[in-house]
Amino acid sequence: RPVVEVNAVDKVYGNGTVALKGADLTVKGGEFVSLLGPSGCGKSTLLRIMAGLGGISRGSVRWWEQDYGVVGQKGRKLAFVFQNATLMPWARVRKNVRLPLDLERAKTGSEAEAAVDQALAMVGLNKFADAFPRELSGGMQMRASIARALVTEPNLLLMDEPFGALDEMTRNKLNDDVLRLWQARNWTVVFVTHSVYEAVYLSNRVVVMAARPGRIVEEVSIDAPYPRG
Ligand code: ADP
Ligand code: ADP
Repeated sequence: RPVVEVNAVDKVYGNGTVALKGADLTVKGGEFVSLLGPSGCGKSTLLRIMAGLGGISRGSVRWWEQDYGVVGQKGRKLAFVFQNATLMPWARVRKNVRLPLDLERAKTGSEAEAAVDQALAMVGLNKFADAFPRELSGGMQMRASIARALVTEPNLLLMDEPFGALDEMTRNKLNDDVLRLWQARNWTVVFVTHSVYEAVYLSNRVVVMAARPGRIVEEVSIDAPYPRG
């Protein structure tokens, strides 16, 4: 079943930049799709459109075969991880991770705390729940951002070059962690990267985009290139 469908979408920014031209992409439940391409080819734009952030100039986007109104309902949640760990510096890790639950107002205080503990455990940060972001390494801050995305148990996880700013060792370790979590939970993930290695290592399917004028040029299925995890 499709989780998100982008049909013949054009995106032209206010200054006239054509960021997407006739983009077609369907992501099915349980897939791990990477968007790969050079800087400026429209990866972030496509990902943001899949998150319902920002309008489109032409075409259509569907979530769970419905319009955007369905997003947020039970079993149809999405979460977005930005390139930089966008934590609130004045709040402890626990409070940062809890923010989406407080916004959702769907859980009682103790349920929310339990969900926060679980999300922190998934990314291996439970010992740092009471630390402030500045006390964490870059990799750990990124983990906290991922925990904040996971805390609502999203059915669709959209990640915009989440590890682009990290050193290679930390990045490889986090790649393994994401892969392990994905295998365990059968998530649907769309992951933006400009690293061929990362795309091939992580995904079922690599969607390759060309620089001009924001087109998808190829889709490559990756059949378990080597034992995963
Ligand atoms: P990528 O993520 O592949 O680097 P983007 O989706 O960020 O590509 O950008 C695609 C194109 O759209 C680029 O030419 C970029 O400069 C332009 N662009 C992105 N955001 C905006 C914006 N808010 N206003 C105008 N142009 C933008
Ligand atoms: P990451 O891969 O998350 O960036 P690092 O490689 O920076 O992690 O850190 C390795 C280990 O060092 C962490 O798992 C953590 O246990 C410990 N560590 C890192 N930063 C701190 C800190 N500020 N205080 C205490 N322990 C830390």
